Amino acid sequence: MKFGIDIGHNCPPDTGAVAIKKEDDLTKAVGTKLIEKLSAAGHSVIYCTPNTAATVGESLRKRVDKANANQVDIFVSIHFNAASPTNEPRGAEIYAISNASKAIAQSVLKEIVKLGFKNRGVRSTAFFVIKNTSMPAILIECCFCDSRADMNLFDAEEMAEAIKVGLIGDSDDTSAPQPGILQISQATVLKPSTEQATDLNRETLVNITPGNFPVLDFRYEERHYWVKWKDKSQRNRDEHFIFDEHGKVVEQE
Ligand SMILES: [Zn+2]
Repeated sequence: MKFGIDIGHNCPPDTGAVAIKKEDDLTKAVGTKLIEKLSAAGHSVIYCTPNTAATVGESLRKRVDKANANQVDIFVSIHFNAASPTNEPRGAEIYAISNASKAIAQSVLKEIVKLGFKNRGVRSTAFFVIKNTSMPAILIECCFCDSRADMNLFDAEEMAEAIKVGLIGDSDDTSAPQPGILQISQATVLKPSTEQATDLNRETLVNITPGNFPVLDFRYEERHYWVKWKDKSQRNRDEHFIFDEHGKVVEQE
């Protein structure tokens, strides 16, 4: 997988919220660790945060252009929220527009919430960087940098690990992708491998008939395979489906 990682702000005049902690420092800490973790797990990472920009608009455009030009598989923008100072916990929310993006967002949010942060849900505001990127894209508001409770709970290492697990699973398997044959034994419907798959529209499901399907590569992550179909007319993008270890579809309707 090729990830586009956008460490939010950090490009004056595009600077983040300043509260108990500076958003710029928080996004940099989390993003840097996330990049290390994804790279260590064998994925390639494109760093999308620009060095300079004349305006905030240019800063955002450069992030989008970097992701699109490099044709990353998933774009991830890291931010921290601010509202008004409070001692109350406020929590995490993730923005995503397409169904594929929302599935990824749910997977990541589930992991962040495990750290103890309040679940503010997946939201669909069309922020510039997720609206203008041409691949599944999420914008993570990790938690609130003006909430004493959130900042006490926050740890950059834990947050980066949660995001990583949400994106690629917690498998430490760094083996190279293996070409192979997927054996489908009965007519079924494939669907994205998220626990929220039932929330997705019907059009994201793929009908498939029994048979052997040559794939360019697939990579095993727990019960999940990332699959690249050999026949481009069949599927034109990597898909994340649930199979058992023999390549048989586990999830079906
Ligand atoms: Zn921000």
